[in-house]
Amino acid sequence: MGNQKVIVIGAGISGLAAVYYMKQNLPEAHITLLEASDRIGGKIKTVRRDGFVIECGPEGYMARKPTLTNLIKDIGLGDQLVHSGTGTYYIYVNHRLRQMPKGSVMGIPTKMLPMVTTGLVSPLGKLRAALDLLIPRVYQDKDISLKEFFERRLGSELVTNMIEPLLSGIYNGDLADMSLEATLPQFAAIEKKHRSLILGMKSIQPPKQAGTSKKSAGRFLSLSCGLDVLVEKLASYADEIRLKTPVDHVEPGKVTLSDGTVLNADSIILATSPKQLGPLLDFPEAWSLSNDKRTTTATVALAFKKEEVEQLDGTGYVVSRKEGLNITACSFMNHKWSYTAPEDCALIRTYVGTAEDAAIVEESDEAIEEKALADLRKISKLGTPLFSVITRQIDNMPQYTVNHNQRVQAFEDALGKINGVYACGALLHGVGLPDCVDNAMHVAEEAAGQLKENEDAATNS
Ligand SMILES: Cc1cc2nc3c(=O)[nH]c(=O)nc-3n(C[C@H](O)[C@H](O)[C@H](O)COP(=O)(O)OP(=O)(O)OC[C@H]3O[C@@H](n4cnc5c(N)ncnc54)[C@H](O)[C@@H]3O)c2cc1C
Repeated sequence: MGNQKVIVIGAGISGLAAVYYMKQNLPEAHITLLEASDRIGGKIKTVRRDGFVIECGPEGYMARKPTLTNLIKDIGLGDQLVHSGTGTYYIYVNHRLRQMPKGSVMGIPTKMLPMVTTGLVSPLGKLRAALDLLIPRVYQDKDISLKEFFERRLGSELVTNMIEPLLSGIYNGDLADMSLEATLPQFAAIEKKHRSLILGMKSIQPPKQAGTSKKSAGRFLSLSCGLDVLVEKLASYADEIRLKTPVDHVEPGKVTLSDGTVLNADSIILATSPKQLGPLLDFPEAWSLSNDKRTTTATVALAFKKEEVEQLDGTGYVVSRKEGLNITACSFMNHKWSYTAPEDCALIRTYVGTAEDAAIVEESDEAIEEKALADLRKISKLGTPLFSVITRQIDNMPQYTVNHNQRVQAFEDALGKINGVYACGALLHGVGLPDCVDNAMHVAEEAAGQLKENEDAATNS
């Protein structure tokens, strides 16, 4: 196996995990990692400044998905794993912060009393939501948008005031485009089994939910050393890393760089950003995925002395779109992750740019900071930041629009016919870090299995 050459394209979490699993499956293979930018990590980026640990991209991941946790333990970083802090979560709607009703899961109520007493939805809106207990199934094994699904089940007011701010905060997407099957298939499954979402969620909900204020381990995990340590450790499994090396084209056994250099490989794994798949592979199914909707966003991390920040119990809030603010959500990072700020300081992270309007992301750092601060100050008292770190993701956030799974299937069928070329990444089977790692693991196993088969066939012939 010593002569096998593997090229992985893209040094985000997907490419790095692919390198790691490839090395586990084929220790003797020579693995080269090609990255267009001047750094590894892709959307993962950690900035350390004056005792702050600032995650500019993902901050953590869902603890219930085990692949990434297993990987972290396997590479010796298990002692750095930390659960997020818990606490009240708020929605800013009708010009004030209101607690997410206890027992709500992704904005869907599962407990009657907190729902009856919440000011988030009018009495009529609550009655409409309760119709969920009676109305027939909406999902009929044919993909529909999240907006259509939730509005038909729970009514538009609950969607506007509770579900939409939460989900668009997580996915930076427009509910009217987003695929139920690809984004939240569990809700389609719950409806299929229980018909009513409220009753179905009640039967499966974990013991602690958003809206509770009890101090206990949160449902997210991260690394207290910073996520950049994870990417650096994974990168160490590559035999060779070439930064500032954009790839232009891929065909079986051959990778063409943008400077015209051609590299040969027995196996090629693409793990690039969404818009690159079409240009690199240049077949219709790859273009179709690549041309799907992508959104633009910026994270604005603001460092403060603690006395400059109104202390709100909890981990943050999302903002209803109808408030017309630039910011879409705000996380109290040092409440969620104590290691992110020195003892006497606070770190706030807010987000600007939506699927419908991302013009603000193109503005200068100063303008973004000013607008973000103006919005934050409408919601709670805030002094002058010590400094800010602004990170843009321009046209780089994949959106799973209706029928995404069918497009992925068609792409993977077509790619399967191309010898020794594989693809993984957030564009395909989930944008969360554990989904990316899971996808990379399966693809690396498949690629390694094929290389072993080729070698066996060559030995026996
Ligand atoms: C602000 C933000 C917050 C997030 N928060 C969370 C969170 O808390 N939890 C969570 O689980 N997920 C979160 N996500 C989602 C998650 O971070 C991403 O889905 C994931 O990191 C994507 O990883 P990837 O490797 O697939 O792609 P990327 O990280 O985009 O990496 C792709 C890499 O390919 C390189 N590349 C592109 N084209 C070429 C080329 N032609 N040649 C060579 N290299 C190329 C790029 O430069 C890049 O380095 C967040 C995302 C963002 C932006």
